[in-house]
Amino acid sequence: MLARCLTEWFWAQRFQENDTVYRPITRFVAYQGTDGPDCGGQAAVPENAFYCPIGHFIAYDAVWLKAMYDQLGDGAVYVVIPHELGHAVQAQVLDNFSFNVQRELQADCYAGAALGGLIQAGVLRAEQGDEEELLINLQAAGDPTDVW
Ligand SMILES: [Zn+2]
Repeated sequence: MLARCLTEWFWAQRFQENDTVYRPITRFVAYQGTDGPDCGGQAAVPENAFYCPIGHFIAYDAVWLKAMYDQLGDGAVYVVIPHELGHAVQAQVLDNFSFNVQRELQADCYAGAALGGLIQAGVLRAEQGDEEELLINLQAAGDPTDVW
C-alpha cells in the first residue's frame, strides 16, 4: 500500500540523517473482522489497526479501513497507516511513556510529521479540503476521548 511505502520511506530518510537505520515493519497484514493476527496472545479486534511490537508488524481491518476510505476519503488511510507506523518508529527510538495517551499523541504527531514531510518533498500533493478531511478522519479513527 502506498501510504505504508511513502511513510516508511520518509522515516528511512530521517533515520539516515541521524546515522541510524530505520527498521521496516516485517509484515503489513490485512484482516477482516475477527480473523486478524494476534499480538503476543492478544487477539486482533474488528474495526481497528494496530502495531505489534512482538514481530514488528502492522495489521488492519481492511473492511473497516475501506469503509472509512469510501465514506471519508483517502485521508482515512493517510491518518491510520502513518499513525501505526509512528508506533513502529517509537519502538526504534524512545518509548518510555508514563501514560498510553502520550504514546498515542506522539504517534499522531509522527503521522503529521510524515505527511508534512512527504508534501514538502513533493511526493504527496495536498488537495483543497485535505486538512479538514484529515481532521475528520483523526476524529473517526481516534480513541474515544471520554476514556482520557
Ligand atoms: Zn496508536
